[in-house]
Amino acid sequence: MKTLTENLSYFKAKLIDLMNYNHSESIVHWDLETGAPKESIRRASRLLGFYSEIKYNILTEDKFISAINFLGKNLDKLNEIDKKSVIETQKDIERIKKIPVAEYREYQELIANAQGIWGEARAENNFSKFQPYLEKIVKYSKKYAEYKGYDEHPYDALLDDYEPNITVKKLDIFFDTLKKELVPFIEKIKAKENKISDKLLKLKYNTEKQKEFSKFIAEYLGFDFNRGMLKESLHPFSMGLNKYDVRMTTRYHEDFLQTSIFGTIHETGHSIYEQNIGDDIWDTVLGGGNSMGIHESQSRLYENLIARTKEFWIPIYNKLVETFPENLKNISIDDFYLAINKAKPSKIRVEADELTYSLHIMLRYEIEKQLIEGKIEVKDLPEIWNKMTKEYLGLDIENDAEGVLQDVHWAAGLFGYFPSYALGSANASQIMNKMSKTIDIQATLKKGELSKIKDYLNKNIHQYGKLKDPSELMIIATGEEPNSKYYTDYLIDKYSNIYEIN
Ligand SMILES: [Zn+2]
Repeated sequence: MKTLTENLSYFKAKLIDLMNYNHSESIVHWDLETGAPKESIRRASRLLGFYSEIKYNILTEDKFISAINFLGKNLDKLNEIDKKSVIETQKDIERIKKIPVAEYREYQELIANAQGIWGEARAENNFSKFQPYLEKIVKYSKKYAEYKGYDEHPYDALLDDYEPNITVKKLDIFFDTLKKELVPFIEKIKAKENKISDKLLKLKYNTEKQKEFSKFIAEYLGFDFNRGMLKESLHPFSMGLNKYDVRMTTRYHEDFLQTSIFGTIHETGHSIYEQNIGDDIWDTVLGGGNSMGIHESQSRLYENLIARTKEFWIPIYNKLVETFPENLKNISIDDFYLAINKAKPSKIRVEADELTYSLHIMLRYEIEKQLIEGKIEVKDLPEIWNKMTKEYLGLDIENDAEGVLQDVHWAAGLFGYFPSYALGSANASQIMNKMSKTIDIQATLKKGELSKIKDYLNKNIHQYGKLKDPSELMIIATGEEPNSKYYTDYLIDKYSNIYEIN
């Protein structure tokens, strides 16, 4: 192929093939997470391995590589969308081309199976059942880091898959700052721990009614049910197949109302993002959310900075009381507001409050960094986990189900993913700070005008999809590079008010 047009049309045709396979693969994942029989994984893991091999072959095919190399040399002749599509696809190729195809496929099957085993191990509270799988996954992750290459730390190679340009060096500084600011502050809160009770959230809440309320609140925030759906799964997640098909899940605990409400709001934040990608890019490889740190900023912004304010609840608290009159009819909105903001270290990350949440991430970051570096071994993880939980959160772990087995991420091979959660929280505070300069957030929430918030985020973040690099996008949205100061300031300010600390 000699001309730019020929190379470009070949490149685009192959990207459509890739997107079609991604689409089918995602539906298989969705099915496995939301209703397929447990044993179906025995055959479905092979199907997922098959898809991964086809995609691998498309990306590494000689003709495709030669087209992309041609386009790579002529970037200045391409429009912005094609140019960024080439750059992103080049990165995907770099990511996998050094891995032998058989090894790649085998790994995809391994992580599909490992997630099933992890679920069983967690239910049986039996780490040793999961251990051999996790050992293989860690071994592969280390090898992958070597295949991919890195400048300073092997973990950098993994981090880069979720947050481009983030390194151990940068994260060490980021987490040190958080630790320095937050740990002494959390100590002060602990001294006032009994000031707030969240008992009212732990009464019996009918799950069918919780489902109704979850649907209501997703819609209230701006989720479009004509282009999306809400189901139930063991671990809540969102999946944007494209802007016309965005799926999300939540989970319902009869004895803890927060889980479904804030889980739904969190996933709605992710999903509103995916539903509002710009019309010019939605059907291209750039047509999804940006890095995980940007994605998490949207879910956390809705979950914490919006939905954990009193103003947010003013127009809809009555609706909640009407849904659960037996528990809430004598509870004031002020008491409800305090209950949903109670800060108390917990063993389980996904149940953590906003303030102590990042300690859970620091713990995982330290462990992953050392695992990938080879400083610690999988077999010692339960002991290390428990020791660090005591050190960071002051809590004693009694069994592995509530300790090292609590998260699915490692079973899914997602080493390097956890730091995005903390980066996302920091980005959310920075975006909110900027938004408050043009929108009176409190007044907007009091009036229930959630579409104003959504429109602002659509315009400043969502429409761009993957068209910009994450730090470039943060500059567009906030005028500056990501800066953790907004996050620590926000937390200290908010919780000083709640707990009356000066
Ligand atoms: Zn999330």
